[in-house]
Amino acid sequence: MAPGGDDSSVKVAIRIRPQLAREQIEGSRICTFVTTGEPQITLGKDKQFTYDYVFDLDNSQQQVYSGSVQKLVEGCFDGFNATVIAYGQTGAGKTHTMGTGFELNTPSEQEGMIPRALRQIFDGVHSRQAKAIQEDSIKPDFFISVQFMEIYNEEVHDLFNPEGNEKVRIHEKDGSIVADGLKAVDTKSYQDTMKLLQQGALNRTTASTKMNTQSSRSHAVFTLNIKQTRAAPCNSDEKENKNLDLETVSAKFHFVDLAGSERLKRTGATGDRAKEGISINQGLLALGNVISALGDASQKRKHVPYRDSKITRLLQDSLGGNSRTIMIACVSPSDSDFMETLNTLKYANRAR
Ligand code: ADP
Ligand code: MG
Repeated sequence: MAPGGDDSSVKVAIRIRPQLAREQIEGSRICTFVTTGEPQITLGKDKQFTYDYVFDLDNSQQQVYSGSVQKLVEGCFDGFNATVIAYGQTGAGKTHTMGTGFELNTPSEQEGMIPRALRQIFDGVHSRQAKAIQEDSIKPDFFISVQFMEIYNEEVHDLFNPEGNEKVRIHEKDGSIVADGLKAVDTKSYQDTMKLLQQGALNRTTASTKMNTQSSRSHAVFTLNIKQTRAAPCNSDEKENKNLDLETVSAKFHFVDLAGSERLKRTGATGDRAKEGISINQGLLALGNVISALGDASQKRKHVPYRDSKITRLLQDSLGGNSRTIMIACVSPSDSDFMETLNTLKYANRAR
């Protein structure tokens, strides 16, 4: 078992993508080595790190999903918030892993974590309703809505309302974090939700082309709100009584495709780009601080700096406590990316 115990609420996975054709043509060598049977990676000769999970370059989307994300989905039916975060330099595989791209014809084995989680959630809804009908018990009702935002330069943009000028405000209301001014679209099926995901992803690309920026410089957050009304659990002698109490259980599932973690100097950023870089790093830095404060059992009462960035404020009620989080840190296997990979491994190491 991974050191640090198995019940910590934030798990960290490393995912190494395969080499791209370009890297093979340029003669880049593979410099990442996974220890057989261990969640351990060695970079170069001797830089060794251990995580909760390590997925090597030949691991499939299905293996990543069933190995790390699948467990989080079940908790949503019992009111536990869940978050999947993709971290890493641009080109390391974040969007591929999450499935936040807008390609309509992705072959099913290439589908990322979001489509797989959506399928599991809607299957879970249908099987719970079918079971209730079969058992002649109260059928649970589900109200599911989605939101899709982009955080760019510490400003929130609504990917379902790209032309809108309404300012989105993230704040706490009745014990949970809400994004006021952000559209929430009701959805009833897997297909509808996938269409919304694709529409938002396309808006993200269009907006970044218009603004002459790169989507790799913003964080994209796709959120599923799941509200369920069901029969409250009761003890056996109450079972005969058909007037059972109803209870409402709510959970949200955030899927976060973070901005590229690469250092500014490598892209030679100046002016506005440099300013973007500063606030992007502010989000990534704050996230690293929050996750490491949560993971540090010796400092349980320590102040957790959620308010230091928009992304951490948004995720405040979905990190720690009763929520489950997995951060998938994506890396390139090639020696040409050695330094960025080392930075990512260090960041991820601090997070767990
Ligand atoms: P990022 O979002 O981190 O910038 P992408 O997800 O766009 O990176 O990945 C960069 C390129 O690598 C894309 O062409 C993508 O299809 C490819 N890629 C990434 N991960 C994998 C993988 N596990 N298997 C196959 N191709 C991958
Ligand atoms: Mg991307």
